[in-house]
Amino acid sequence: MKIMVCGGAGYIGSACTEYLLDNGHEVVVFDSLVTGHEAAIDPRAGFIKGDLGNRDLLMQSVKDGQFEAIMHFAAFSLVGESMQDPGKYFRNNLCNAINMADAAVAGGVRTIVFSSTAATFGEPDEIPIRETTTQCPINPYGESKLCFEKVLYWYNKVHGLQYAALRYFNAAGATENFGEDHNPETHLIPIILQVAQGKREKIMIYGDDYDTPDGTCVRDYIHILDLAQAHMLALNAPESGHYNLGTGNGLSVKEIIEAARKVTGHEIPAEIAPRRAGDPPRLIACSDLIKKKLGWQPQFEDAETIIESVWKWIQKNPDGYDD
Ligand code: UDP
Repeated sequence: MKIMVCGGAGYIGSACTEYLLDNGHEVVVFDSLVTGHEAAIDPRAGFIKGDLGNRDLLMQSVKDGQFEAIMHFAAFSLVGESMQDPGKYFRNNLCNAINMADAAVAGGVRTIVFSSTAATFGEPDEIPIRETTTQCPINPYGESKLCFEKVLYWYNKVHGLQYAALRYFNAAGATENFGEDHNPETHLIPIILQVAQGKREKIMIYGDDYDTPDGTCVRDYIHILDLAQAHMLALNAPESGHYNLGTGNGLSVKEIIEAARKVTGHEIPAEIAPRRAGDPPRLIACSDLIKKKLGWQPQFEDAETIIESVWKWIQKNPDGYDD
């Protein structure tokens, strides 16, 4: 297929672009490079530098490209930042995403694969979280993604635009060539590994008084290659739908630190800090639906393998993309 990847210079978009190309698809990346990196764009892909806020450019690019599908990764994704600046999140993750959906309709695109998130569930009333679990976000990031899920639902009803909303749990890991390089970095695994690299003195654990087995937050960490596999399968989904994407293994902040100590051989000093605003205590996915409907099968099931892939990438790219 010919696919436009919005946000293909970002962390998950770059790995997905590589995976699609490896599997014989043709890809054009559309990215503003505001948070992405030019060096993260697979050289086999085409590239249009543009912002989803630039509606005219987007409309023209989608029309000219004759794409069968659009994958939409181009969003802001920091829970903490969204609690300070909600407008930034609704403008980009909702308004600009609507530009993309309009461009898809106008350009005759068949389907959109949308990066949604576990943050749409807020503090879920059941664990593991199913597709039918009540969605009640507790931060503007999750709310902005839920709003766009609803936009897609109505665009499907009204315009016949197909979609798959993939609700990622905690994306982690690296491929041989592409990894995570955010500025500032806020995610747990890269920060822990910065300690192992000697770039930070210690890891701060945001709260150890949650109602979880060791008091620290529990998350479901999923490798970006497993996410990429899900995106490719979603291209051929027989009908539109929402899918949760995680391994089903809940790991606490302390367990992740312990796994990173094993992988790196570094003691990784840790200190307890206050809770971070907007963090739910436990997020664990039930991904049975996507396994059953689309045949998705994750390849990376344990924390050490995931962390090992990141550690390898960091050793090859100690300063990230260095741009
Ligand atoms: N976390 C932490 N210290 C850090 C960064 C993150 O204790 O320096 C915790 C955070 O509070 C959350 C978990 O690690 O419970 C995962 O956070 P991350 O930002 O990686 O992903 P999120 O779950 O927010 O999408």
